Amino acid sequence: MDPASDWRLPARLARLKDLAYNLWWSWHPEARVLFKEIDRSLWAEAHHNPVALLRRCAPARLEELAADAGFLQRLDGVIAALDRYLGAKDTWFARAHPEAAGAAVAYFSAEFGVHNSLKIYSGGLGILAGDHCKSASDLGVPLVGVGFMYPQGYVQQRISSDGWQQNVYEQTDWSVAPVRPVLDPLGERLLLSVPLGRGAVSVAVWKVQVGRVPLYLMDTNVEGNAPQDREISGRLYGGDRATRLRQEILLGVGGVRVLRALGLRPRVFHANEGHSSFLFLELAREKVAAGASLDDALREVAEMSVFTTHTPVEAGHDVFAEEMIAEYFASFWPQLGVERERFLEFARAPGRSGWNMTALALRLAGRRNAVSRRHGAVSREMWRSLWPEGPAEKAPIVHVTNGVHLPTWIQQELGQVYDRYLGPEWRESQDDAAVWSKAAAIPDEVLWLQRGRGKSALLQMMRARARTRWMSERADPAHTLAGGALLDHSALLVGFARRFAGYKRATLVLRDVERLKRLLLDPWRPVQFVFAGKAHPADDGGKALIQQIYRLAKDPAFGGRVAFVEDYDMHLARYLVQGVDLWLNNPLAPLEACGTSGEKAGANGVPNFSVLDGWWEEGYNGANGWAIGEPGGRGAGPEADAADAEDIYRTLEEKIVPLYYQRDEHGIPRGWVSLMKASIRSVAPRYGADRMVKDYVDGLYLPKAAVAR
Ligand SMILES: *Cc1c(COP(=O)(O)O)cnc(C)c1O
Repeated sequence: MDPASDWRLPARLARLKDLAYNLWWSWHPEARVLFKEIDRSLWAEAHHNPVALLRRCAPARLEELAADAGFLQRLDGVIAALDRYLGAKDTWFARAHPEAAGAAVAYFSAEFGVHNSLKIYSGGLGILAGDHCKSASDLGVPLVGVGFMYPQGYVQQRISSDGWQQNVYEQTDWSVAPVRPVLDPLGERLLLSVPLGRGAVSVAVWKVQVGRVPLYLMDTNVEGNAPQDREISGRLYGGDRATRLRQEILLGVGGVRVLRALGLRPRVFHANEGHSSFLFLELAREKVAAGASLDDALREVAEMSVFTTHTPVEAGHDVFAEEMIAEYFASFWPQLGVERERFLEFARAPGRSGWNMTALALRLAGRRNAVSRRHGAVSREMWRSLWPEGPAEKAPIVHVTNGVHLPTWIQQELGQVYDRYLGPEWRESQDDAAVWSKAAAIPDEVLWLQRGRGKSALLQMMRARARTRWMSERADPAHTLAGGALLDHSALLVGFARRFAGYKRATLVLRDVERLKRLLLDPWRPVQFVFAGKAHPADDGGKALIQQIYRLAKDPAFGGRVAFVEDYDMHLARYLVQGVDLWLNNPLAPLEACGTSGEKAGANGVPNFSVLDGWWEEGYNGANGWAIGEPGGRGAGPEADAADAEDIYRTLEEKIVPLYYQRDEHGIPRGWVSLMKASIRSVAPRYGADRMVKDYVDGLYLPKAAVAR
């Protein structure tokens, strides 16, 4: 039943299992080192999944470790640290909110990016959710996550030799996934029945432990469900509109029921994006069933709920045909005591038809936020018609700027440099600007050396991938070169990695190919680019952009100075944000709600070169990187694109390249290194997930007014 229970470790190593099943290990270097020490090549083969490592490790090797005093001492140290962490009473949350002891916060998300061994995320939204859970755990916030355990996850990317993205899906191997089934009091698998349209679906639940935070993940692939119902939780963002609707009903309505089945009564419900908005209707239904009037029920729901909207891009908001909603909810609205029309009104965007999941959440959740200052203003304008009585700036949508979980994203050895010069306090006080201001004291040589190591690790990884591909598939050599085999350690390396959606303008820098070529092929001061990113499996436009870059990467005229790395995921993202010299982002403003990859780069001392949109509109201070375009953006259209591209070329030619190559007699670019320090000092304290989670707790989960009630 429980895939964790049918294998054994030598008694002295038994607690390695606890460590392997708590993703806490992933952001604690001493735990990672321990797993690596067990079997270095198996660790790589297992893609850094400790459950797979332990299950596949030769028994003789385990016996050997069980008798190795040095290993046992390190093991005991890590286990003691884990136990201390899990048992800590004196957390930030306990100190800041003693009045909320015993309260819980339920956090609903369609995806969670916690670690690569758990492929239930696609990109930014999921990684944000994972980072939110990790910081909540570090800070002692009593968070509980709710989502799906997709057995096929999100698409994996392979690029064919003509540059076209192939969509690959891989089945999860349950015996090694870091998840455990939730059992009922009799020790049987917990199954609950969730109404879906005219019928009901059986749902099983998996649990993932992220430090102190449990994630409860639903799975409909259980015996007794009709074949199409077994597929509901099959893939993230796969399937047709009906599958998508069924997923979202299960996430919202089913998610609340899972919590109830577990005996949980969270004080706050947080919907991370509109996919889970149905949860608010389910909460209202519960209250009406308990005897409340609909008005009272809605008021109570508003008081306990938080909704975060994540994009100003129209297509990013789920809208379902009203007939489809009517088909699934015909027996639901009578339970709220309303007619069909009144029910459909809950989710109509004014002046438009269709069931809009964002409009639903904005109406029902009492506290709403966007994910950067700029995105706040854009969202208030976008949704002002929901509050027609006031001006747009009064629309009740605030903002909490996204942040990243620093221990996950900061290069391990750079973390040790921070330990030494900032003091280990940076790990406990991640949002304390005074701690980070000590970055100025890191010797230039030390920081520059560390930068070089991050770059070597990235280049080595790219070469290893290209080599494997070449050997195993006898790939076309040009394919191998396009993967980055010719990149040069001593040349400026610019990184660009994100989803290939049109508004991100991945090919902007290709607008003037001759000018780009001059930059790339400058004999004394060459520039190199590395690109990565997936297109949505159904987005041929995005795939065409990848192909355009890929063809350039393969073209001998560009000298191997442009590379495309396949299958952008958390693992690759770490190498990139820790390995390139400069992080480029040039979306069409104001469509980048926040963007977090630049925050990861900045905290690693990699300066940003970005459009003044999302977080960079707040984070850019004139000394920690470079800006593209004008505050507020230049609008859409070929002229605006041309002007932004001109900015990119000119800034590279006149500022970035000269600064990077200006070396002293020791070969150190002093000016560049001081920019790196400015980046660390300004980005790490403001754009870490600890600051973000504290903002959520103080401003949205437990605001003073709500606490007083
Ligand atoms: C951080 C991250 C993202 C989100 O970054 P953006 O700047 O929002 O594009 C997406 N995918 C992966 C794999 C990441 O690590």
